[in-house]
Amino acid sequence: MTIQPNSIEARDKAYHLHSYTNARALERDGALVIERGEGIHVYDNAGKQYIEGMAGLWSVGVGFGESRLVEAAAKQMAKLPYYHTFTARTHSPSVELAEKLIEIAPVPMSKAYFTNSGSEANDTAMKIVWYRSNALGKPDKKKIISRTKGYHGVTIASASLTGLPNNHRSFDLPIARVLHTSCPHYRAFKTEGETEPQFVERCAKDLEDLILREGPDTVAAFIGEPVMGAGGVIVPPAGYWEAIQKVLKKYDVLFIADEVICGFGRTGEMFGTTTYALQPDMMTLSKQISSSYQPISALLINENVYQPLADESAKIGTFGHGVTAAGHPVAAAVALENIRIIEERDLVGNVRALSPKFLARLKSIGDHPLVIEHRGVGLIGAFELAPREGFAAGQLGPKLFGYLMDEGVISRAIGDSIAFCPPMIITDQQVNDMFDKVERGLEKFARELTA
Ligand code: PMP
Repeated sequence: MTIQPNSIEARDKAYHLHSYTNARALERDGALVIERGEGIHVYDNAGKQYIEGMAGLWSVGVGFGESRLVEAAAKQMAKLPYYHTFTARTHSPSVELAEKLIEIAPVPMSKAYFTNSGSEANDTAMKIVWYRSNALGKPDKKKIISRTKGYHGVTIASASLTGLPNNHRSFDLPIARVLHTSCPHYRAFKTEGETEPQFVERCAKDLEDLILREGPDTVAAFIGEPVMGAGGVIVPPAGYWEAIQKVLKKYDVLFIADEVICGFGRTGEMFGTTTYALQPDMMTLSKQISSSYQPISALLINENVYQPLADESAKIGTFGHGVTAAGHPVAAAVALENIRIIEERDLVGNVRALSPKFLARLKSIGDHPLVIEHRGVGLIGAFELAPREGFAAGQLGPKLFGYLMDEGVISRAIGDSIAFCPPMIITDQQVNDMFDKVERGLEKFARELTA
């Protein structure tokens, strides 16, 4: 595509540094301009329609153009466009949202703390873990364990928790006191002849060995996504979470469930915590909390975390943490309305109802000779291209992604995996429509590869 002078693409190149983008490639190729959205579709500035098969960034659960969210924002904007929650101030949208989150939390939680992104919520979780250990007179109990291929954000602390090389390389991360244990991707990480139950046992043993090596008195918390998202949609094998949680309990290690992708229906339950029978002490929520119509995230903490924190804040005189827009009234009002929509329209039920079709279509793609594996749960899934001579690992996925874009489907290439996480309002017909296009794109790609 030639970029016209003064076009939006030209000005974007001139002035805008992009996240997760090769800056030199952008200088050459420019960015795709998305202009509007409606339901499961978005449209670029040439008028081309795409099925947003990733719901933006795993996040636009109720789809695009939901007028109730627009109205909720406008109403709150007119009444009180901003107020903060520092120094014992509050406003009804943040109170109502906190109450709602505690009410729907899948395990007993005590308080909701608001931030603006998943990264900040996980950063806050990490700081609270440290604060709590100090409150309990255990100043050495500070290490936090996450997993290879886990994704928890990009701030200095949360990027350290993230277990992906591009989030560490050249950023001088991870920071001290963050450790990584094994990724539960059976096909990718099993050893020769290892069965799935043996693999699960080894994952739990790896975690236990790490805790013992570091010293249980130094390990404070473990963080994990119920289903790994940005690491490639890694669905844990049967028995994995049970085995992991047993180790955490044994060594008095707090469990933080990162529900930033799974939360609010994605796995076919309101929370991934329910799908996998988790018992977290803290949960981080974002993305589908507001369908990303407004930036907002929340950290839920249970009594076991809240009580020492409250003691410490009383001793010091304040809980010295908080960002200006935390619990922003407009974002909170939008999140509340979004959760109402998810409940009223039973979108979690829709995920459950359509999941068999979604997974069956993925499975059928999994039978394609170019594909080595498919995986998924609820309405989140991926298929992975088999390694191929002449292509480095991670080269094929982005190529196929381009073919799918041509067909009008936005997916996400994660290395050689192609991920899907469509809006939860998607219909049976639209699931078929999406995968028909994907199959056409895959066929064209296959022809090109073998030509
Ligand atoms: N945790 C998980 C599981 C995520 O998927 C993400 C974002 N993809 C984050 C945390 C970070 O959220 P944010 O991009 O809003 O900082």
